[in-house]
Amino acid sequence: MFVLAAAAVALVAGAVASVAGFGIGSLLTPLFASRLGVQAAVVVVSVPHFAATVLRAWRLRASIDRTVLVRFGVASAAGGLAGALLHGRIHSPALGVVFGCLLVFAGLMGATGLSKKMRFGRRTAWLAGVVSGGFGGLVGNQGGIRSAALLGFDVSREAFVATGTAVGVVVDLARLPVYLATGWRDVARAWPLALATTASVLAGTLAGEKVLRRIPGARRLHVGALRFGFVKPIEIAPDDRVFVLTGAGISAESGVRTFRDAGGLWEQYRFEDVASPEAWVRDPALVWRFYSARRAQAKTVSPNAAHVALAELERALGDRLFLCTQNVDPLHERGGSRRVVHMHGELMKSRCERCDRPPFEDEALYETADAIARCACGGRIRPHIVWFGEVPMFLDDIARELAACTVFVTIGSSGAVYPAAGFVSRVRHARRVYVGPEEPDNARAFDEHRFGKATEVVPTLFSVRS
Ligand SMILES: [Zn+2]
Repeated sequence: MFVLAAAAVALVAGAVASVAGFGIGSLLTPLFASRLGVQAAVVVVSVPHFAATVLRAWRLRASIDRTVLVRFGVASAAGGLAGALLHGRIHSPALGVVFGCLLVFAGLMGATGLSKKMRFGRRTAWLAGVVSGGFGGLVGNQGGIRSAALLGFDVSREAFVATGTAVGVVVDLARLPVYLATGWRDVARAWPLALATTASVLAGTLAGEKVLRRIPGARRLHVGALRFGFVKPIEIAPDDRVFVLTGAGISAESGVRTFRDAGGLWEQYRFEDVASPEAWVRDPALVWRFYSARRAQAKTVSPNAAHVALAELERALGDRLFLCTQNVDPLHERGGSRRVVHMHGELMKSRCERCDRPPFEDEALYETADAIARCACGGRIRPHIVWFGEVPMFLDDIARELAACTVFVTIGSSGAVYPAAGFVSRVRHARRVYVGPEEPDNARAFDEHRFGKATEVVPTLFSVRS
């Protein structure tokens, strides 16, 4: 009966851990301790814990930061070995107290977000590795300290989770042989329990992500779980220069529709049919009907939290922020940004098709050829948009800022439209961060990937030091 109950808890623990990255030790150890005593519980739980951690690390293997793993893993393994050796010598009551305190400590760290604030420098992070591995060896729980210590290294969110899991494997490898040597009697006595929970934890790990992914909101839960204490804002130092490139994704979250899902009327056209110099020559009224519809739609949408956050960043950084957008809508300006470089033009501006008269604010809708306004020179008024086959604007300013920036952030751009998609490969000297719900086509060029919607990620993305 107890074995069945334990197997059920193990199934849940495996599923939780597959999404949140922790939970097996925290859920199973107290349960086992109630039956076997703390000391034996730590030994027996290490078996399913090891199996599940290996499985998770294997599935995350692509994101593991090998340098951090080697540096931090060695320290943790040494600590784990020492802790495991000590484990065999300390008697249950003392261990119970230490274990209880540590569980409370780990819980408090998670619940208060303290582990997020508690950061170790690079050197102390090694020491923390020894300590966290030591706790792992001693009482089987090291997640909280390991998380805080890993934050001392500059790694992306995926690398953080993957590397933390790999460190867990290393610590397990160090402590398991010691446990089995000193506590084999416990495992032998509780083998049905160890076997049943190992199978359940593995099943839970495999099923967890698949099942949870199908539940609406689970992805957000996943992102939230990862963010809980894991996300480190990008620190902007007084001498940093930040280049932000935004794409369709940030506007889509405000409800701006892209050409592809513009719907109904425009489905029969290709983009080139309504947004190219050839289209303008062939049928200017059609071109204006398209942009009039987009103007009408743009009036119905509002800037979102990501636009507002970038406007705040501009207020904090002044001209140390260069905000470049591929979007033609005015949402950055409506969100409060004052200096926005629209490399593909602006929907709410028009200009003359013929002379050099500068572009001007224009929210008018033109439905017929006769309705199209004329310039003083006699030329027709056209959208101030970079069409298919035309050269993007401000490329000189952009090149200068790309060369000067120290932080380069792309938000909601698919990485498919050039030249913007090539910017990241011109800033190898800068820290390169991608923000978006999916991998862009040029994902490999970035150092970090902050997975999530712009409205969820951008408001807490930057931390400006003065
Ligand atoms: Zn003119």
